This record gives sequence, structure tokens and C-alpha cells, in this order.
Amino acid sequence: MSNNATIHSSENPFESMMSRFDEAARIIGLDDASYNVLKSPQKTVIVNIPVTMDDGKVRVFEGFRVVHNANLGPSKGGIRYSMDVNLDEVKALAAWMTWKCAVVGIPYGGAKGGIKCNPRELSKSELERLTRSYTDLMVTVFGPDKDIPAPDMGTGQQEMAWIMDEYSKLVGHSSPAVVTGKPLVLGGSLGRVEATGRGVMVSTRSALSKLGINPVGTTCAVQGFGNVGSISAKLLQMQGMKVLAISDVSGGYYNPDGINVEEAIAYRDNNSGTLEGYKGGKKINNEELLELDVTVLVPAAMEDQITHENADKIKAKLIVEGANGPTSANADEILNKKGIMIIPDILANAGGVTVSYFEWVQNRLGYFWTEERVYRRADRVMKQSFEAVYQASQKYKISMRIAAYVVAISKVAEVEKLRGKFGI
Ligand code: NAD
Repeated sequence: MSNNATIHSSENPFESMMSRFDEAARIIGLDDASYNVLKSPQKTVIVNIPVTMDDGKVRVFEGFRVVHNANLGPSKGGIRYSMDVNLDEVKALAAWMTWKCAVVGIPYGGAKGGIKCNPRELSKSELERLTRSYTDLMVTVFGPDKDIPAPDMGTGQQEMAWIMDEYSKLVGHSSPAVVTGKPLVLGGSLGRVEATGRGVMVSTRSALSKLGINPVGTTCAVQGFGNVGSISAKLLQMQGMKVLAISDVSGGYYNPDGINVEEAIAYRDNNSGTLEGYKGGKKINNEELLELDVTVLVPAAMEDQITHENADKIKAKLIVEGANGPTSANADEILNKKGIMIIPDILANAGGVTVSYFEWVQNRLGYFWTEERVYRRADRVMKQSFEAVYQASQKYKISMRIAAYVVAISKVAEVEKLRGKFGI
């Protein structure tokens, strides 16, 4: 592997990603050329998006799209609306998408986009103008055979519908396959909303089985109660697990007898999307939730929640990463020493992109699958991918995280070589 590879130790998401990439590259003996190609994104687009606000004033928003790698197929990745969006974060998220698609064996490369904005402060019409203008500026980047966005934090089905409509207008024909995560009536897939949480549940079951732990009665805590967290919590509870705590931006809620997850979801849905004021558990904070004495911990909110500062206090035996990048590279070392098994983001939350791929396939076929078929195929992908990563971890005697990178980087590097994209 390259002499250029340095050991990164910072907690920044891009550095965290690179430090795992470096370690996996060393293990597989990745050559210098492949290392240098794969460490950098293929394309980085930064745009300034002028939007006329409801009061008539013009505001300019910064937007990004990073295509990390498109060797395995068109690049795929969500669009995030948040005030924390920055180029380093988008670059890390784009690279994770490359590795994630490779781990689960779907024919996509990796990308990510974002707009630095607070979607909760914008009216629906402002959000629509922002999303359409971003699409206009990205029309040469996006495309069903080029780069396919999806929802991420702060975006959902409505934004995907606007992107699909704007893109279709610009190219002069209906193009549903340009985005995934669309509403069902507009070509979305059955099972997409549940897909990431369902993959988290399937991965948890696979991991518990390797650890020889029966899920029934096993305790867990889930951080984040949005799409991924709430559905993971619900499905884990349906497997007989006891969800002792849940949390969102309003804080954590702990009940030693188990949270009634269905009830908590209904409460959130009738309470402007937050758990604020939820009475089904004692109020704790997000740090306390992470440090609870539970068997399984599912961080499903955001990056860098488990760092070198709190890793030593984690008591769970198994961490299943619903969020992207919730554990920093420095924390990995501490958790590994404690013997905690981590199912990494690029495997654990890949159920979402897998069903996004199924949505794209159905759009191109013009034929839609039943929910049962979507679940069956997605569950199979998740189980087989888990097993492949587990086998690599046994073969090289490495953590599941580095094993997932080993599987992914080997695949992307092999394709890079076969396609011969090193220039002539
Ligand atoms: P979401 O916006 O639906 O939910 C995010 C949740 O996290 C909300 O409940 C929010 O209140 C909570 N939250 C935010 N900051 C928090 C904090 N500091 N402490 C505790 N909770 C906090 O987002 P989502 O789609 O569920 O995504 C969550 C994570 O999963 C992100 O990292 C995202 O990139 C990743 N992910 C999502 C999908 C998907 O299909 N939605 C797929 C793969 C990965």
C-alpha cells in the first residue's frame, strides 16, 4: 500500500473515514495508484443558490454535491438539509456511500449532497424554490445513469418529488429514476420507508446469533427517533427485544420495563415530530442513553456520538450503527479493546440504499413489486452481506468495521483496474 497513506487520528468525519480506509488499504496491500485514486472524490460541485424568500428578499444558500466514485455504476447518495452541512462532511458521506454500495453488492458508486440551511425555519414554498433551484444547478450532475439522489437528514419524499419534477421538466420527459425515496404514487417503492430500520434489525439478529445471544428479552437503547431510529426500535421490539431507552433532540426517555415503541411513535407523530414531553419513560440525556447498561446500542441520529471521550463508558456488548459515522475512529480503538462488537454503518444501515436500488430497478422496469418481495430480497442482501463481512473479519482477524472496508475497497479497486481508468 501507499507510502502516502498517513494515520489519521482526528474526530472529523472525513478524517475518521480516511483512517479506516488507510487501515483496510494496508491489510489488502492496496497499490499506490488505486490508493491515490480512491482516497479522493472524482467530482466536487459547490453552488450558491439564490432564493427569493416569502418576504421578497433574496437569500443565497450554499449547496454541495460530491461524487466520490462511480466505478461500480451511477453514483448514489442522499441530500442533507442542515446548518451543519460542510464540504468535509459531504465528502466523508459520499465516500461512505461508495463503500456501502460495494459492501452490499449493488451496482452503484457513491455520492452525497447537502444544502447549508435550517429546513425548519423555511416555509414550504421557500423549501420548494430552494430544492428546484438546487436541481437546476445540478442538472448536468444528476441523471438516472449518472448520479441519483435520495433523502437524508432534513429531506424526505416531498423534496424528492420536487427534484423529480424539476429534472423531468429540464430534460423534457418524465424521469422517475433520477431520484429514489419518492412518494409511492410517484414511483416510490413499497418498503422504502422501513428499509433502513429493517436492515438494522436484520443485522442485529445476525450479530446476536454470532454472539450466541437470544434476541428475546435482550435489552437495547436507540439514539435518534427519526426514520431510522424509530423503525429500528419498533422492529427490534417486534423481535422480542426490550427497548429500555429512546431519544431525539429533546433528550432521552428511559423505562426499565421497556418503552412502548408504537405508542412513542404515535406520540411523536401527534407532537410536531418530537418526543418532547413524552411520559412513557424517565427523562435522561443523550449521553446517559449511550452509557446505559444494555446489550445492544443503536446510534441512529448523527455523526460522532461515540468518541474517545465517552467510549470507555459504553456498556453495550453490541453496537449497530443506524446512523452514518456515529463512532469516531479514536473511539473504535477503545471499543475494540473492550471487546464490543460494532456492526459498522456501511453494513448496518445499507438496507436503505438497497431498497433505493430496488426502487430504481422498478422505475426502469415500469413494473412494481409487492412489499413481501421487496422485504424478502432486501433481507437476503443484508444477511449475505453480513456473512461476507463476518468471514473477512475472521480471515484477517480484524473488526467488523475494517472487514467491511476490506470487502468494499477490494471490490471497487478491482473494478477500477478492470475498467482501466488510470489514464493513458
Ligand atoms: P431523521 O431526520 O428522520 O431523524 C433524525 C433523528 O435524530 C431525529 O429524531 C432527531 O431528533 C434526532 N437527533 C438529532 N440530533 C440528535 C442528538 N444530538 N441526539 C439525539 N438525537 C438527535 O433522519 P434519519 O433519516 O433517521 O437519519 C438518521 C441517521 O441515519 C443519519 O446519520 C443518516 O445519514 C442515517 N441514514 C439514514 C438512512 C435513511 O434511509 N433515512 C439510510 C442510511 C443512513
